Amino acid sequence: MMLDFFIKLPFSNNFNTSPLTVVQKAFLAKIEHGEYKFKENHCLCGNLDKKHDIVISSIDSIGVSINNILCKKCSLIRLEKIFDDSSLSEFYKTDYTELYIGAKYINDEYFKHEIAADSRSRRLFNLVENLGIMDDINNVFEIGCGAGWNLWPYHKSNKNVSGCDYGIDFLKYGIQKGMNLYEGAINKNITSEDTQDLIILSHVFEHIADPITFMDEVLSLVKANKYIQIEVPGVFNRKKSVLNTAFQLPHIYTYNKRFLINLFTMLGVEILYIDDEITCILKKPEKWQYCNNAKLEVDTLQYEYCRVKKELQQQYFKKKIRYFVINILKFLKLKECIKTIFKKQEHNEL
Ligand SMILES: [Zn+2]
Repeated sequence: MMLDFFIKLPFSNNFNTSPLTVVQKAFLAKIEHGEYKFKENHCLCGNLDKKHDIVISSIDSIGVSINNILCKKCSLIRLEKIFDDSSLSEFYKTDYTELYIGAKYINDEYFKHEIAADSRSRRLFNLVENLGIMDDINNVFEIGCGAGWNLWPYHKSNKNVSGCDYGIDFLKYGIQKGMNLYEGAINKNITSEDTQDLIILSHVFEHIADPITFMDEVLSLVKANKYIQIEVPGVFNRKKSVLNTAFQLPHIYTYNKRFLINLFTMLGVEILYIDDEITCILKKPEKWQYCNNAKLEVDTLQYEYCRVKKELQQQYFKKKIRYFVINILKFLKLKECIKTIFKKQEHNEL
């Protein structure tokens, strides 16, 4: 109750306080002039009644006016409107990387950073290793592979790796490093059904408008009793606030662990590992079959939206306090002191 009194929804401003760049301003002008077309996005639980929708924020991390909705029925956060199909592919080809990733070109230093001992790539690889399933894996495929940094540890371990992505410059770099990468979405002429032992989806799933159909396609590529590794920004991630990572136009959904457990259970896959950050490893059962009539068990998620709402309000409150302290220190000209104190947190939030 106290939080509701102090932190009202929707949050009054966006979560990125940096001034807009020239590229960001140009993109916002494109949106304003209607160069990109939007369509309605209904909740995955099937709810169409707006009285179950809570508007969490009305602006994304770079200033795009777009509502993020928390569904009271199932606890899922979604964008109220999303790009239509042609706008979506145009967006990923021309604007996405520079706007939301911050880099358009790759070099040796960039790649080295992405495969370092403390990198995401290494963490994902270690998780598979720690589960004791590495010997079960020979063919590894990544959707949205960038330059192939998540595939790299497998490549170095003499596994067969392949991947697909839209960023041609990144792909070229990975190909030149000896990995089998191709441009575009999943191509079943190149990646055949029932051929993969592990499919990696690292920060891809939250971009997908129809995750159920997408998972059906992904699962068709995986051999029976083999694996899918998924990583998405999680609401209850205490290491990296979801306020920094999730409220972005390309992120159609912001997931929490309980919702995903419900979704994966509905899809009939086995959950070997899942945490709040959220990283998970799924296993495709021996006789897995896509079920058209499957529905989310929303009754089990009845009060989850309260937890999600409270968590976001707490994170927002902490963020406000932090910026307040930083501004005071800046005012007192203690910049070097600020850098030392907040270096680690800032690094974590990038
Ligand atoms: Zn819902």
